[in-house]
Amino acid sequence: MRLSRYFLPVLKETPSEAQIVSHRLMLRAGLIRQEAAGIYAWLPLGFRVLQKIEQIVREEMNRAGAIEILMPTLQPSDLWKETGRYDAYGPEMLRIKDRHDRELLYGPTNEDMVTEIFRAYVKSYKQLPLNLYHTQWKFRDEVRPRFGVMRGREFLMKDAYSFDLDKEGARRSYNKMYVAYLRAFTRMGIKTIPMRAETGPIGGDLSHEFIVLADTGESEVFCHKDLLDMPVPGEDVDFDADLEPIVRQRTELYAATSDVHEAARFEREVPPDKRVNARGIEVGQIFYFGTKYSVPMKATVTGPDGKDVPIEGGSYGIGVSRLVGAIIEASHDDAGIVWPEPVAPFDVAVLNLKAGDTATDKACEEIYAKLTAAGRDVLYDDTSDRPGAKFATMDLIGIPHQIVVGPRGLEKGTVEIKVRKSGAKEELSLAETINRFAK
Ligand code: ATP
Ligand code: MG
Repeated sequence: MRLSRYFLPVLKETPSEAQIVSHRLMLRAGLIRQEAAGIYAWLPLGFRVLQKIEQIVREEMNRAGAIEILMPTLQPSDLWKETGRYDAYGPEMLRIKDRHDRELLYGPTNEDMVTEIFRAYVKSYKQLPLNLYHTQWKFRDEVRPRFGVMRGREFLMKDAYSFDLDKEGARRSYNKMYVAYLRAFTRMGIKTIPMRAETGPIGGDLSHEFIVLADTGESEVFCHKDLLDMPVPGEDVDFDADLEPIVRQRTELYAATSDVHEAARFEREVPPDKRVNARGIEVGQIFYFGTKYSVPMKATVTGPDGKDVPIEGGSYGIGVSRLVGAIIEASHDDAGIVWPEPVAPFDVAVLNLKAGDTATDKACEEIYAKLTAAGRDVLYDDTSDRPGAKFATMDLIGIPHQIVVGPRGLEKGTVEIKVRKSGAKEELSLAETINRFAK
């Protein structure tokens, strides 16, 4: 992408309405634009990051055996009346009437609807286990939308729903999602800790929240320090195998959010030098809720003994749009965002320090063409802005690698490459540069 033809509306001033660093940086780097309280338009750079996160989540859901669908944002109220949640959900639910006076709502979550889909088609235990997921916009009319996309009213969520014949099956499905979550967050370059949690309006009796540690987080967390350093299962993890040992290894160590925290247990189970009491951001939550929806909605299957039983369910959410902010909270410095490579909007930036100079233009064009042909996402700053402004913008938007090309270096046959994260600089020839980034 040539910057001269791109749409990258960076701001010089720090927006005064933003209270936390990720919100400030998202506005300054031109990632989002607020259209109403808690409702944002995604600008090109932000949208690229959002899509990268969505894709990582999709790959890990698929790897764990979940199947992608897409349910609508608008739902009929009838489904929610069947489960009793229409009245229970309260003012957080955005209720709408169509021209025929039929009640609709903008979905805050999809347990009711997915259970309706399930019961329409699945009749036998032989079709189980089943896990259906989608990534779709949700609306929750939060009392206090704040911190930008971290607590929006409209936000993008991946939500998966598992259906099993019995409790043991449901537990296996829960464990698959637990492991898939560990993998997905690690691939995004962030460290998350699964914490025992309250089940809230989703209901049920087993739940974990996945928390990224950050001082600006809204949750208070208590956990065992060793949880921070546990290795995450690799790509070769077998989702058909028993995953209980991987889960147990973690759940045996104390980790709880403040709403279920037990101070006495924390002190008994965790030695003083291993006690972590910190703040964190919830980026995902998984629930086992059993028959909470299948009983009222009559979502039953015929078991091996010929009897109809309500299925055992779970639901599994990831805050895809919240993650954009959470990753920035975990990865930035004074100059701006430091994207982890797997979610960066571009892999490499090329900075032309003297646009219009024949030799400099030629070298930049060659790098840009060859790296693009090799499949890298390259942002080429071909504008005639001052070098100082170019450096500042590239640092602000956080592209992991910068290739700086100017006439002085080219006289010696070199360009400068800079790693955004460490600031480390190196001088390489044109050929070496292309070689390094073209793989
Ligand atoms: P919170 O406690 O932060 O309000 P929640 O527990 O109500 O979230 P869930 O129902 O567990 O949210 O939704 C799954 C995920 O969706 C959350 O883990 C979070 O990452 C994301 N999420 C929830 N509410 C919002 C919101 N208002 N804005 C952005 N993301 C959200
Ligand atoms: Mg939650």
